[in-house]
Amino acid sequence: MMIIMRADATQEEISAVVERVEANGLRAHLSRGEERTIIGAIGDGRPINRDQFLILPGVDRIVPISRPYKIASREFSPHNTVFPLDGVEIGGEGVVIIAGPCSVESREQTLEIAQAVKEAGAHALRGGAYKPRTSPYSFQGLGEKGLEILAEAREVTGLPIVTEVMSPELVPLVARYADVLQIGARNMQNYALLHAAGESMRPVVVKRGMSATVEELLMAAEYVLSHGNRRVILCERGIRTFETSTRNTTDINAVPVLKALSHLPVVLDPSHSTGNWEYVTAIARAAVAAGADGLMVEVHTHPDQALSDGGQSLKPERFAEMVRQVRAIARAIGRDVARSQHTQPVLQGAAP
Ligand code: PEP
Ligand code: MN
Repeated sequence: MMIIMRADATQEEISAVVERVEANGLRAHLSRGEERTIIGAIGDGRPINRDQFLILPGVDRIVPISRPYKIASREFSPHNTVFPLDGVEIGGEGVVIIAGPCSVESREQTLEIAQAVKEAGAHALRGGAYKPRTSPYSFQGLGEKGLEILAEAREVTGLPIVTEVMSPELVPLVARYADVLQIGARNMQNYALLHAAGESMRPVVVKRGMSATVEELLMAAEYVLSHGNRRVILCERGIRTFETSTRNTTDINAVPVLKALSHLPVVLDPSHSTGNWEYVTAIARAAVAAGADGLMVEVHTHPDQALSDGGQSLKPERFAEMVRQVRAIARAIGRDVARSQHTQPVLQGAAP
């Protein structure tokens, strides 16, 4: 349930409510709005006597949250969650573009692609140092060496880094290098990993499992949020269906559905959702038209030599064209591609 405090509630009254929430074995999640504070009281579903809160000074009313996910739900926060990713805001008006190779393969490859995606207008660099591969004999990623390369790419380009973490023990290490921790589709229900990512307090992008429902994705996000880590991004990356003409089926419905059910930013990954570079731009346009707050796209300067997912990676020129088309779609629906301090240098003395 949510305990809505009166606009004139004092700090002491808020603290007293939090204490009572915790005395009941519930967790208190504070949300300080411009007008009033809302206290989310979250338990394990056991019945709680609500009247004990209603009589406390400063309490206005109590609103139950009907969904199984609580902090992730629109009921918890009617306003969109917006937060900065080192120079660019996600969840707001601007569409954020995260781009880069599937895997970090070498220093030269990563720096070259990082520079290319930056020039084309990307706001953040993606690239896996730890790769979840279907075959144990496929390239598994460079590990910490890959993280070091990503850190160098950030230094050179200024782009924040999004990179996957596959096990809870590695979260502290990856969090030292990454600006955003990526939870991959195969790990969406790795609860120990979700707990560790929540504890890290780093922004987290949770990718939808290939056979996960929208509700299961939101429950995965809830794990991260339950640690007080509010900077969570939801990612639709295609689901497995009977259709075999593409690697996955883009669940475009998930974009407006997630936006309706949750206040969290929603991004779409057209690379994994199609598995074929030829369809990536069309689905990127569709994602933005459907209301996505961002895109996560695989780009490679030499896709034919890529160690993973070359067939779905755009070459930089095609990626630049995708950005142009996505910008046109964003403008057509009253949005735009996000402004970033890295991609759009602010001129001294220029009008805002
Ligand atoms: C990736 O982003 O490279 C990746 C492995 O994605 P997913 O977890 O969606 O398959
Ligand atoms: Mn990939």
